[in-house]
Amino acid sequence: WAKSAGKADFALFDEDRNAREVHRYALAQALPAALDSGEMFLDYQPIVDLAGGRPPMVEALVRWRHPERGLLKPEEFIPVAEETGAIVELGRWVLDRAVRDAAAWPDGPAVAVNVAVRQVHDYGLVREVATALEVSGLPPRRLCLEITETALMDTEEDGLPGPGTLRTLADMGIGIAVDDFGTGYSNLARLRDLPATSLKIDASFVADLGHPDAGDFAESVIISLVALAHAAGMTVTAEGIETADQARRLTTLGVDYGQGFHYSRPVSAERIEAVMAELGAQK
Ligand code: C2E
Ligand code: MG
Ligand code: MG
Ligand code: MG
Repeated sequence: WAKSAGKADFALFDEDRNAREVHRYALAQALPAALDSGEMFLDYQPIVDLAGGRPPMVEALVRWRHPERGLLKPEEFIPVAEETGAIVELGRWVLDRAVRDAAAWPDGPAVAVNVAVRQVHDYGLVREVATALEVSGLPPRRLCLEITETALMDTEEDGLPGPGTLRTLADMGIGIAVDDFGTGYSNLARLRDLPATSLKIDASFVADLGHPDAGDFAESVIISLVALAHAAGMTVTAEGIETADQARRLTTLGVDYGQGFHYSRPVSAERIEAVMAELGAQK
């Protein structure tokens, strides 16, 4: 089950591969019950203002405390939940939980919630978001939905409610962020037409920043993305900031927000307020 096997995976017998598939699907099937029995929870990671003058945010990240398998990270159950469709129910739970948590932080940070492409194609999304905001009293400007660049390209298919749904949500005053930007080979000129309010530069570019073997490429990419995003009226967030040097360079390059272990790892809902207060006091 451990995914640490790495390259040795390819040498496994088909039987082992089948067994792992069975495990994956068993997880997806167990998901709805896990939601009911309280095995899922959210951690929150700060998104700090690099340039100054903007309110901070937090990102909600789902975890599964599995009774037999221990703590599961999203990469172990989100992809299969997307395949089986269980992601729609999980996504509804995440949205609800995150919006209620955020509403309990008075004048607190906006909360960013990851949304899968299946949810964008689900006709219930706009109503669910509107209801969650109404019930909790969270103002729309304190909610941001994150959708990966790859998923955004999938919303282009004809007959599906994708782009219209995102436009409607943006018109409600909710933030729309393009997650993992730079990994999806999308047409940069299209950025202008997306109903997005911010762009999250993928952690791989941040990791390459200042890396001796990577040359200046990552820096050039970031400069271009900042220019494009700002021209399109979007803010820019850099993901995966692990060092003070990366934070400094990204600030110099005009990146608006930063997120990463350098500031804080994802923490529990109980701890996030204290962590945010500490980060705010450091400035
Ligand atoms: P993401 O939305 O790009 O979230 C950022 C991921 O990077 C998180 O991993 C976070 O813990 C990790 N991270 C943050 N700072 C650093 C850093 O400095 N270094 C490193 N190495 N990693 C850092 P996590 O929590 O394991 O989530 C992985 C992905 O799973 C997320 O990527 C997102 O795509 C997905 N995901 C998480 N929660 C949800 C959810 O509620 N719904 C959906 N649909 N997807 C989710
Ligand atoms: Mg995200
Ligand atoms: Mg990301
Ligand atoms: Mg990611």
